[in-house]
Amino acid sequence: MPDPSQYTDRPWMDSDAEPFIKVQSVSKQFGSFTAVDNVDLDIYKGELFSLLGGSGCGKTTLLRMLAGFETPSSGNIFIDGVNMNDVPPYERPVNMMFQSYALFPHMTVENNVAYGLKREGFGKIEIKQRVDDMLAMVELTQFSKRKPHQLSGGQKQRVALARALVKSPKVLLLDEPLAALDKRLREQTQFELMNIQEQLGVTFVVVTHDQEEAMTLSTRIAVMDTGRFMQIGTPTEIYEFPESRLVANFIGNANMFQGRIIENGPDHVVVQSKQPECEIYIDHGLEIQEGHKVWVALRPEKIKISKQAPDEARANQVKGVVHDIAYLGKISIYRVKIDDDTLIEVTSPNLSRPKDGNLAIDWEDEVYLSWEASSSVVLSK
Ligand code: ATP
Repeated sequence: MPDPSQYTDRPWMDSDAEPFIKVQSVSKQFGSFTAVDNVDLDIYKGELFSLLGGSGCGKTTLLRMLAGFETPSSGNIFIDGVNMNDVPPYERPVNMMFQSYALFPHMTVENNVAYGLKREGFGKIEIKQRVDDMLAMVELTQFSKRKPHQLSGGQKQRVALARALVKSPKVLLLDEPLAALDKRLREQTQFELMNIQEQLGVTFVVVTHDQEEAMTLSTRIAVMDTGRFMQIGTPTEIYEFPESRLVANFIGNANMFQGRIIENGPDHVVVQSKQPECEIYIDHGLEIQEGHKVWVALRPEKIKISKQAPDEARANQVKGVVHDIAYLGKISIYRVKIDDDTLIEVTSPNLSRPKDGNLAIDWEDEVYLSWEASSSVVLSK
């Protein structure tokens, strides 16, 4: 009998678990334009779920429908088992943190955080206690008397977070929460956000166009395009097992080989790639017919680059010439020209220092690229 505790961190795997947010066949039309196109989505309690996609794909519209700022043209949204269709924003168990943070400039940090509680008529003592707790949690106690213009971008972000969380919403909706921060601060804040979310156990739904941010933060990600979900999965599933070229290209970089299946056994598949010309051996079977046109996605870090020819094996290797090198310190990125139309990208960790300042692999070197039978992903769409 399966042990239910095995799903504690992965409630979406548990067929008995009830979703906390249920989006059911939801569409949103603006005039004749469909911004969100008949989507279904289950989000579980305590998840940090990201809606990820390029500009205009409909992610903010979906978030605004969860908040109640937009009404679905069709379909239903349930939160904690209640249909939200006729529930106004202020009566929903959700709060939204906007990209601009929308802090009141004339109010101190503590008054910004206290604002929502005051409006709801909480007593002075309770307000003080809650605001103090919240400021301690986001490590802003010492800034409580400052005004927003006296704070850094990261501090403003934390005030906005404290203000959004102080009313103990069951769901916090965050629209590009870290977009205003520079890269370093964004990375640091991602971890803070995860810690806070874990401490409070509040369900977070985050809209972002930043794939690294989504990968770092999320329990699961929905990749959106033109109002639809292209794939929903954990960061590892989305990265390692993309289901389409669009997802493979959107999340990280992928080299795409185009070819046909020439052999399909129960435990392996062979693809004859036309561009670049090579044979690709994959160590598992697939439900795709022989002769079928496919794409094979191969991540740059899964490819080995060497000046020596790999052993015997004839599959899973190509030969080329180093066209570009970007030395980034801990890794180097190589772009290797295989033929007139094909450049393959390879990333390789710099495990040892270059000898006498010379790179082990240099511009114009002839190199062999090779990869394991488990490294590539076959895509039929
Ligand atoms: P971004 O990252 O650029 O904010 P997004 O994925 O969040 O993009 P949405 O804001 O959800 O995109 O918008 C989806 C589409 O719906 C866009 O083409 C947008 O122009 C359109 N849209 C959004 N709001 C309205 C509106 N009130 N009236 C008309 N069209 C709208």
